[in-house]
Amino acid sequence: MTTYASETRVGISRPVPHLSDAELAELNEEFELLPAGKIVQWARDTFGSRLCLAASMQDSVLIDVATKVDPGIEVVFVDTGYHFPETLETLDRVEARYDLRVNVVRNPEPLDDLWMEDPDACCAARKVKPLEDVLATKAAWLTGVRRAESETRASAPIVARDKRGLVKINPLANWDELDIDGYVADHDIVVNPLLSQGYASIGCWPCTRAVKPGEDPRAGRWTGFSKTECGLHD
Ligand code: SF4
Repeated sequence: MTTYASETRVGISRPVPHLSDAELAELNEEFELLPAGKIVQWARDTFGSRLCLAASMQDSVLIDVATKVDPGIEVVFVDTGYHFPETLETLDRVEARYDLRVNVVRNPEPLDDLWMEDPDACCAARKVKPLEDVLATKAAWLTGVRRAESETRASAPIVARDKRGLVKINPLANWDELDIDGYVADHDIVVNPLLSQGYASIGCWPCTRAVKPGEDPRAGRWTGFSKTECGLHD
């Protein structure tokens, strides 16, 4: 039986459906054949303001797709305190280009360079916790996770329930590098300048290096540690 949770917007309250795992699996198959914009449209229609988009400021492809569906969609960016200046400049350019006020969230505690000894704990405190606080108010979220990014993401679904019980939607999951490059060229997309300097996957400066040609795009993340994900997408 379908159950509903409440979605409240300024003066408007409407139910948000609880989708069963079987329903999500069916949608996932259907979405393999749909353009990303249609997937975002479904997410917006289904979850209303209880949907947000988590952005990394690597490029604005997903933001471009999503703001064409809903110019006011909530875009969230986690400021860990350790971003490259180029990433923060990209945030400013994205806000200007899309006339967006990005919801920038951060851990208020002073920086402690925990990444040197314990990157898992650092990510948990600086990245995961601030986003978890936002997600606690949501029913679903959009991310730019793509299968082509790494072996660990190779089987990423387009839509599924995540470990929090939220519906996680990856509208670009089946896009490869050519798809991204084509969209960037065709839609005047904001791109982090580090991408053209060999940084194929951009995280915090202490934990990101440029990769060599042929290397996995995420091979430059947490070099020297067995860590491959920050914990947001586990
Ligand atoms: S990527 Fe590195 S600096 Fe950034 S939150 Fe994780 S461990 Fe800390």
